[in-house]
Amino acid sequence: MRKIGSVPISQVVSCLDGYDPDALHVEKAREAMRACITPISETEQVPVRAALARVLAEEIVPRINVPSHDNSAMDGYAVRFADIAQPLKEIGTALAGKPFGGTLAAGQCVRIMTGAVMPAGSDMVVIQEVVKREGERIIVPPGQKRAQNVRYAGEDLKIGVPVLHPGKLLRPAELGLIASLGIGELRVRRKLRVAFFSTGDELASIGTALKEGEVYDSNRYTLHGMLERLGVEITDLGVVRDDPVQLEAAFHKAAAADAIVTTGGVSVGEADFVRALTAKLGEVLFWKIAMRPGRPMAFGRIGDAFLFGLPGNPVAVMVTFYQFVRDALLHLSGRRDDYAIPLLSATAAENLRKVPGRTEYQRGVLFRDNNVWKARITGQQGSGVLRSMAEANCFIVLEHERGTVKAGEQVAVQLMEGVA
Ligand code: AMP
Ligand code: MG
Repeated sequence: MRKIGSVPISQVVSCLDGYDPDALHVEKAREAMRACITPISETEQVPVRAALARVLAEEIVPRINVPSHDNSAMDGYAVRFADIAQPLKEIGTALAGKPFGGTLAAGQCVRIMTGAVMPAGSDMVVIQEVVKREGERIIVPPGQKRAQNVRYAGEDLKIGVPVLHPGKLLRPAELGLIASLGIGELRVRRKLRVAFFSTGDELASIGTALKEGEVYDSNRYTLHGMLERLGVEITDLGVVRDDPVQLEAAFHKAAAADAIVTTGGVSVGEADFVRALTAKLGEVLFWKIAMRPGRPMAFGRIGDAFLFGLPGNPVAVMVTFYQFVRDALLHLSGRRDDYAIPLLSATAAENLRKVPGRTEYQRGVLFRDNNVWKARITGQQGSGVLRSMAEANCFIVLEHERGTVKAGEQVAVQLMEGVA
């Protein structure tokens, strides 16, 4: 089991500069979570293919050079730089995987293909398109450079020089790089286990008819999607009523995971109820974050699991997940590379209403207009309007201090794809 420090979360966060649970800046909220979370340490050994999208848990140090021999970068002739002013005699061929065994003497050259080992004695390659052939002789035109068109041993990866570090996300490029070293298995962090459930007396499950005042539980489906894409192991604990007994049972089950994500029940009034319960089971702080949507949020610990209590509104769930939970879970998973969602710059295509004093995550469409990348919002921006997310391809991030944005001003955007 993961060892968690015994210092209460409230104590850790109260030491942070500018920590104010009633008007928490988004950056502060992220910082507070990171300060409280110790990454998991367990690892497992997996074959290269299975390491895709996992977190590397060892240093990759090459035991061979890549490439292992000096070889040709082009199809042409391997020659000696000192000789190229004179006609050269072709004495053989070097193919990829079929080296020319001999050594070049003065006045000689070897026909060579891309990837073939440089014959002993040769020090450069002249591409085939520029040479002239006169009977058995090869004429090299002037203007060639010493050492051209050669890929040197260890130019890509060098024996003994660490190339990948623990905490790195393994993408297709890393899988290929590891394979190029002849490594068949490697050590990765184990996957995170995340349990989640929705809370609310008004929630109906798919397959039942809606009664008056009910809504279908959509949050568990967006959470399912977001967590799956993050590559964690998920446990879906269903819908839990606003009932202390049911909630306590759900929290007990969920506490076996590394993290728990819930939706609903953190707004004023409801929070008191969850507060009493979670105080009994662990420690939970209720935050009012200076943001829109997603103002109320809970963060804490129940048993060994970190708790992220998200608001109930469907858009607020997604925004708080991407802005906080994603970051916290990646930190918990042991990532040490830069996983912050990039902020790109785009031109506002329209006026965007905004009140200073909170960070807003408006749902937008990034599009190209005459080679200028512009962003517009996806219509109605209410925190319950999930369509605003479904139609969006980006968040338009309007900074804390900023007021209304005029069309033509630059705004920051975060692309929704490619962040997992
Ligand atoms: P709450 O934060 O629990 O007060 O919920 C705020 C709003 O979000 C209410 O209108 C709820 O009906 C709605 N809501 C809460 N949970 C869900 C859910 N799982 N799926 C869809 N809507 C929800
Ligand atoms: Mg509720």
